[in-house]
Amino acid sequence: MSYTYGPVPSRRLGLSLGVDVLPYKTCSFDCVYCQLGRTSNLAIERKSFFPREGILAEVVKVAAQTNPAYVTFSGSGEPTLNSDIGWLIRRFKEKINCKVAVLTNSSLLWMPEVREEIKPADLVVPSLDAATEEVWKKLNRPHTDLDFSKIIEGLIDFSNEYAGQLWVEILLVKGMNDPAEHVKALNRILARMRFDKVQLNTVVRPPSEESALALSYEELRAISKELPVSTEIIVPYRKKGKQVSAHGDRERILAAIARRPMTVKHIEQSLGIPPERAKPALEAIIAEGKAKLSIHEGEEFYEAMR
Ligand code: SF4
Repeated sequence: MSYTYGPVPSRRLGLSLGVDVLPYKTCSFDCVYCQLGRTSNLAIERKSFFPREGILAEVVKVAAQTNPAYVTFSGSGEPTLNSDIGWLIRRFKEKINCKVAVLTNSSLLWMPEVREEIKPADLVVPSLDAATEEVWKKLNRPHTDLDFSKIIEGLIDFSNEYAGQLWVEILLVKGMNDPAEHVKALNRILARMRFDKVQLNTVVRPPSEESALALSYEELRAISKELPVSTEIIVPYRKKGKQVSAHGDRERILAAIARRPMTVKHIEQSLGIPPERAKPALEAIIAEGKAKLSIHEGEEFYEAMR
């Protein structure tokens, strides 16, 4: 089991070492836009999924080799489902000379213990896609035992209790959460929160459901003007990244596309493997039946077969 991926040049964080503390696609949501496909394990029970010492040892070792700007909890599902997250954040802060970030869908922030556990992180990026229960059910397709109002109140409480950087991510899907009335409702929730910025995103990778359509940059820009002044549109990262890995191209590419669909350009940016090496490796992986090619918004994405 490998608990790390990257470092990848993240759109938001710079060079970020991903930490994946969940079995594949264990999540409290089954978002229509999810780049990982349908949620195979829709769960709200928190557990220690793996030996935490093993996760710690691997992250400390890879961070020492690669010197990332952030160690980031994200990956195969909702990281706060792992009940070791608080212990891991504290150990990372002691042992690794970089910042710690948590990307969360906000679904467990109604639990005081979850809020306490992630407070030592330097940065928390909670999602706020839906301002009404109706949109939430359609867009995020949550576990049936979750309560929308409790989640929103938990998110608001967390934002007001937390002292670190808080960037609220809103992912917009055409026709679902972009109508003007819904944007106004999002604003009403944001007005009760403390945050450093709002980040607008859209469907930039092949989604779980083909019906989940992206907004254009112009549409995002128009909506950003209706949101708080700190709102920014996050666009795909363009700079070349660096990567340190002992694996060969084929294994590294396969490990990367198993976590998220990638273009040849993404592979070059995040793994440092140029197209002339990535393409033959991808062809071989597809010929072995381990990956497939799909088209999204006119771009070719490679994703691992499940
Ligand atoms: S987008 Fe995130 S929160 Fe939504 S289903 Fe995928 S992993 Fe879960």
